[in-house]
Amino acid sequence: MKIVFATGNGGKLREAREILGGGFELVTPSEMGITEEIPETGNTLSTNSRQKAEYIWDRCACSCFADDTGLEVDILGGAPGVHTARYAGEEKDFNRNIDKLLRDMEIREMEASMAREAGLSLKNLGRRARFRCVVTLIINGEKHYFEGALEGKIARTRSGKGGFGYDPVFIPDEYPDRTLADITEEEKNAISHRGKALRAMAEWLAAQTL
Ligand code: IMP
Repeated sequence: MKIVFATGNGGKLREAREILGGGFELVTPSEMGITEEIPETGNTLSTNSRQKAEYIWDRCACSCFADDTGLEVDILGGAPGVHTARYAGEEKDFNRNIDKLLRDMEIREMEASMAREAGLSLKNLGRRARFRCVVTLIINGEKHYFEGALEGKIARTRSGKGGFGYDPVFIPDEYPDRTLADITEEEKNAISHRGKALRAMAEWLAAQTL
């Protein structure tokens, strides 16, 4: 099946091709002549995911899907969440994003430990975090939504050369001694937020008579 994946992110594209396998021919927006950055101005992952898929549908009326992903860190009250890509600024620089994440968590941990020393009974949230991914599929003009999440914690320092984005500091529960950048792409795809959401999409498509 030929389908446009509304992304300019090479890491997402590589993973999606691997997860969906040979039954899907993934086309990029630039291959469709859409070279500008696709806007994502919503306040939730679902809104942004839908906005990106609609952007493609409105221009080519072809089967397409988009993925919007957020990292939720408990001690940061769920941040960066929908602001994950631009956490440290508009440049979407993943190194600066990771630096800011580690710094903000250190500050929060210090504040929490001072509050505890001062006698406040605060729940210890540790470094718990999760990736959430919302996929919007548009087919024959109709929208369908699929979700996936990956639970884990944030490492204190980077580790690993694989993956992309925040992978070097995300330790999934399934591999407690390694980050997503330490494990293979196959291992990541088998447990990841994106793997779960895209496999749900593929299963739904397989059950349709389109
Ligand atoms: P968006 O879904 O394109 O808005 O991406 C949100 C942010 O999360 C970007 O900074 C991505 O690099 C990052 N991101 C998305 N998926 C992953 C992932 O699987 N691992 C690590 N970082 C990711």
